[in-house]
Amino acid sequence: MINLETPKKHRVLVDQAHQVAMNMLRPISRKYDQAEHEYPKELDMLAAMIDGLSDSGSNEGAGATGVRRDESADDGSVKNGANLASVLSIAEMCWGDTGLLLSMPRQGLGNSAIASVANDEQLKRFEGTWAAMAITEPSTGSDSASITTTARLDGDEYVLNGEKIFVTSGDRADSVVVWATLDKALGRAAIKSFVVKKGNPGMKVERLEHKLGIRASDTAVITFTDCRVPASDLLGSPEVDVKQGFAGAMATFDNTRPLVAAMAVGCARASLDLTRDLLAQAGIVVDYDRPAQVQSAAAAKFLQMEADWEAAHLLTMQAAWMADNRKPNSLEASMAKAKAGRVGSDITLSCVELAGSVGYSEAELLEKWSRDSKILDIFEGTQQIQLLIIARRLLGLTSAELR
Ligand SMILES: Cc1cc2nc3c(=O)[nH]c(=O)nc-3n(C[C@H](O)[C@H](O)[C@H](O)COP(=O)(O)OP(=O)(O)OC[C@H]3O[C@@H](n4cnc5c(N)ncnc54)[C@H](O)[C@@H]3O)c2cc1C
Repeated sequence: MINLETPKKHRVLVDQAHQVAMNMLRPISRKYDQAEHEYPKELDMLAAMIDGLSDSGSNEGAGATGVRRDESADDGSVKNGANLASVLSIAEMCWGDTGLLLSMPRQGLGNSAIASVANDEQLKRFEGTWAAMAITEPSTGSDSASITTTARLDGDEYVLNGEKIFVTSGDRADSVVVWATLDKALGRAAIKSFVVKKGNPGMKVERLEHKLGIRASDTAVITFTDCRVPASDLLGSPEVDVKQGFAGAMATFDNTRPLVAAMAVGCARASLDLTRDLLAQAGIVVDYDRPAQVQSAAAAKFLQMEADWEAAHLLTMQAAWMADNRKPNSLEASMAKAKAGRVGSDITLSCVELAGSVGYSEAELLEKWSRDSKILDIFEGTQQIQLLIIARRLLGLTSAELR
């Protein structure tokens, strides 16, 4: 049975993450929003603390690498494991600052990709790396099956050629997980991911993007020109299993979409908490025990947003809980991402509206959160793509039958 309260074993972690968000992220939030592309050096100390917690075992695999599915541990019991710990702690950190969470050393989306598909030897070898994830190309965004970056086997190395755009942490990370095709003619089954280390002479960061939100996070354009990587840095199996299709690569998304949903949940929570305080200061108290229609319009709107937030929160917890309990969760991961991505944007922008000029000004962080949350409805699959995946799953249709 699923119990949707925060499990007792994760409460300390949630508490710690909340303290870090409040005392370490919030105070530097505006600084790095304004100083786009400047590295938030304060995060180095924080990352060292998180490493220390992991080493001491008191952090139980939370964070980007916590998404690995442990098939060997299937003793039939119900688990509140590392996936749940990850979404809970990420939501708290994004209550502090989403851009800074995305800039945390060793917590990149590439780390989740490694945790999802690497074999045991690779997992050990890449332990401690900070990995970005590069899927998107100038001509390929939502349709990730049509990527054109190529990987050709030459002796005991693969040679990568292509261009990747919008790579989060692409400049700062120690390595980039690059999606490339071994043979375009074999379709999506031939898409594999490769770990390319910073400093590889074939990999070049061309430029950094200026953005609407999450400005603390660097977003890079990277080119690969005859970029040679050891064959052993192809993640998982090099076999092209046409029957399995895209399943291997897509397993990453089942694990990362709940994390992105958790970011939206955390950022929206920050907006709700601050807006409730600002409303109270203006004499509008939201009463959770009385029907919305007998309260002021502002309070009624606030209660509707709380309901939306709760739905997003529960779907996110469910998707992570299913991963912890080795249940297929593609449908639920997309549902969580679609709901949290959409209501995250709606809530943060509505909070700006409810707070009026205070919401729009830089005196508070509400305007920043409305900018930061938009990306969470775009990357790791847009709103429309999540709805498409949900429809396919519910109707039992393939990607060729419903596009
Ligand atoms: C700040 C930022 C950070 C990013 N970080 C990363 C990263 O780290 N790694 C990475 O690989 N990528 C990253 N991305 C890229 C991101 O994943 C893509 O932008 C996203 O997948 C959408 O692709 P696109 O921009 O090419 O839009 P398109 O795919 O061109 O879509 C444009 C619009 O059409 C809609 N659409 C597309 N296809 C369909 C369809 N079949 N049915 C209905 N509607 C459809 C989309 O939902 C969207 O609204 C990042 C992007 C940004 C802005």
